[in-house]
Amino acid sequence: MDASKRCVARATGWCLAVHEQFRAELLRLLAVAVLVGLFGWVSEAWVLALLVGLGGLALWQLYQVWLLEEWLAGGGGEDLRGVWRSVAEHIERVRLRARQRKKRLSRLLHRFHDTLETMPDAAVILDQRLRVQWFNSAARELLELDAGDSAVGRPLPELLDDPVLADWLRQGADASPLERRMGAACERELELRVAPFAKDQLLLTAHDVTELKRVQTVRRDFIANVSHELRTPLTVVVGYLEMLAEEDLPDEVHNALAASLRQAERMQQLVADLLMLSRLELEEDSPPREPVDVPALLEHLVEDARRLDGDQHPVTLHLQSRAGLLGSESELASAFGNLLFNAILHTPPGTPVDLYWEVDDEGARFCVVDKGPGIPQEHLHRLTERFYRVDKSRSRARGGTGLGLSIVRHVLLRHDAVIEIESQVGEGSRFCCIFPGMRIVPA
Ligand code: ADP
Repeated sequence: MDASKRCVARATGWCLAVHEQFRAELLRLLAVAVLVGLFGWVSEAWVLALLVGLGGLALWQLYQVWLLEEWLAGGGGEDLRGVWRSVAEHIERVRLRARQRKKRLSRLLHRFHDTLETMPDAAVILDQRLRVQWFNSAARELLELDAGDSAVGRPLPELLDDPVLADWLRQGADASPLERRMGAACERELELRVAPFAKDQLLLTAHDVTELKRVQTVRRDFIANVSHELRTPLTVVVGYLEMLAEEDLPDEVHNALAASLRQAERMQQLVADLLMLSRLELEEDSPPREPVDVPALLEHLVEDARRLDGDQHPVTLHLQSRAGLLGSESELASAFGNLLFNAILHTPPGTPVDLYWEVDDEGARFCVVDKGPGIPQEHLHRLTERFYRVDKSRSRARGGTGLGLSIVRHVLLRHDAVIEIESQVGEGSRFCCIFPGMRIVPA
């Protein structure tokens, strides 16, 4: 592309000005050449005329460069002429643009800082070596960082003086969220997260969950206390109802007693499930690690299920391995039992139910597969919530409490395991518990 086209393409005043200045510069040269020619012609001293002309021109250009230099250093620059004036104008425009960009960036930076300042969460920017670069006022309060700038530049693990937190910080952006008690009397509970920030930096945020945890504890204690208080009177009620049911009484009284006994037993089951959930929540931080003979446990479960079900469902156990698990026998029995009894409870008599225990290098998997009515997809992700039931009245009529899968989820959490649920309406369901390799006890 030639120069003129480039100028049109740029469509800037600068380009046109340069052209005008170049024309003026050429005219100036021409005038000097004419003067040199005239002088040479009159005096016939051509060399002298040429030297005077060229020297004058060089001096004039030098003077312009000096003026430009002065102007760049902060001088007026009014005497600049020719292309040098255009160059100065162009530099001025570039400087203006840079100033505007800097102003925009600084406004953006201020807004970012203001946002982080007004946040109730603590925010700390760390460099690669975990040295504090910046922190907001919430960090001052929640992480007890120094109000002055003395924390800036120092490694955060050193400032916090907490070995667990220091190890966690060293994992960098890969660290999963951590809950930690902080403060002199451990009075504050914080949820800490770390994320990559800008280039080679980390952003640590800490959210105060003290109140949330307190409310959760109150709720958990309330449920545990109520369930505990209900257990004894319910045992007495069930005992008397069972005793009365054996008496020789009119049919209508018998029916009423049988219905009362069914409801009382349902309440007993509900109380037992609530107590189990409270206990699991209470012991969340102490994962069980006793060796459990899973094949033997499953064989017993299948026996119990066949007996309680009166062999209405063909239950088959497929043991691919005799390996066991590190965990709690009673908790695993409860989780596996819940899945097996669900398959019996929520499918019509005669539906085959298959249990699989499979172990390989990566981990172990216990699955309960039934060919029952299945569950619509939209319910699957909510099944492990407390009291969530696909069909409330049908589940209740069958003696379900709506807590079974919630118990399964809690037990699995304590065993570093997860639940996988697959179901197709009209084809059946598959509930699998997947355990990591580190939990396997070889046969
Ligand atoms: P429940 O005490 O009602 O069985 P759960 O938490 O164990 O409570 O199960 C939640 C709901 O999931 C049940 O109410 C039922 O609707 C559904 N469900 C669980 N297992 C099965 C299954 N094998 N087949 C069909 N539906 C199931």
